[in-house]
Amino acid sequence: MDLKKITDDVYACLQEDKGIGCSNSGLVCHGGRSMVIDTFWDLSHTQEMISLYESVWNGMPDRVVNTHVNGDHCFGNQLFADAEIIASRQCAEAFGKTEIPKLMQNLKDQINADNIVIANFARSLADWDFSGIELRAPTITFDKYLEVNIDGLMACLIHVGPAHTAGDIIVHIPEVGVIFAGDVVFRQCTPVGWEGTYKVWLDALDKIIELNPEVIVPGHGPLCGIEGAMELKEYFIYVRQESKVHFDAGISALEAAKNIDIKTYAKWTEPQRLLFNVERAYREFRGDPWNAPIDRVALFSGVNELYQHMKKQND
Ligand SMILES: [Zn+2]
Repeated sequence: MDLKKITDDVYACLQEDKGIGCSNSGLVCHGGRSMVIDTFWDLSHTQEMISLYESVWNGMPDRVVNTHVNGDHCFGNQLFADAEIIASRQCAEAFGKTEIPKLMQNLKDQINADNIVIANFARSLADWDFSGIELRAPTITFDKYLEVNIDGLMACLIHVGPAHTAGDIIVHIPEVGVIFAGDVVFRQCTPVGWEGTYKVWLDALDKIIELNPEVIVPGHGPLCGIEGAMELKEYFIYVRQESKVHFDAGISALEAAKNIDIKTYAKWTEPQRLLFNVERAYREFRGDPWNAPIDRVALFSGVNELYQHMKKQND
C-alpha cells in the first residue's frame, strides 16, 4: 500500500492490483478540514490506509465519500465513526443489498468446498478479513450533483451511473485538476461491471476526458492521465464490437470470450473478466434492462472456465 502525493492538498492511497478487492482511496485536506474518498474492503486494510493518511492530515476527516456501493470502496466506513458519509442516492439505496460482510466471510471460509468455483473464489479472498465489519451507510445523499467545500477548496461530486454500478459518482477537484474516478476507471486492470450499460459507461468516460484532469485516481490500478480513460473506452468499444459479431452468429457469450483476441489487453490484470463485458454486451443485444439481475455464480463459473482456457493458450 502506497501513499502518493498528487498536490499539496491531494493524496491517493494505492493498493497494488493483486486481484479482486485491491482498490484505491483518496484524501483531500485543505486548511483545517479533510475528506476521504473511498475506504477499503476490510478493517485492517482501512486501518493501514488511515495510518498512511495520518502522516499528512490534521485529524480524522469529517467527511467520507463512497464512489459506489461495492465493499472494496465502503466496507471500512465504520472506522470513520464521526464522519458524514456522502454518496449518491442510488448508492445509498443499494447498501447492504448484495454484498454483505457476513456472507463474504462465509464465502472466504469455503476454500475446501466441493464446488470448484466457490473454492477458487474463497482462495482469492485470502488477503481479506470480513469479520467485525458493520456496514455504515451514507448519511448524506444526492441525485445528480453536489459541491463540497473543503475549507475553500471545491470538490464536485457528479453522478455518472449506471456505468459500473447504478450509483457511480466521480469526484472532481477542478482547482488542482484531479479526478477520483472510482470504478468508472480501471487502469491496466480488466473492468467488471454490475448494473449499467455500455452507453452510460462510455458517456462517463467522455465526461472525464472532457473535464481534462491532469491526474485520474482510478478505482483500481496505478494513477494516470486522461489516456487511462481513453484506453478503457477503446477496450469497451472493441469488446462490444467483437461480441456483436459472435452474438449475430449465435455463439454463446462464453465461447465468444474464448474466441475474442484481446490483443495487448491480455497484459491487464484479470483478463478473464472479459466475460463480464461480453455478457453485458449480450444482455444489451437481447434488449435486457440495465438492471436485469446477474447470476453471479454462473458468471464466476464462466470466468473460471475462461481463466483455464486462457492459461492453456499461454502454456
Ligand atoms: Zn472496486
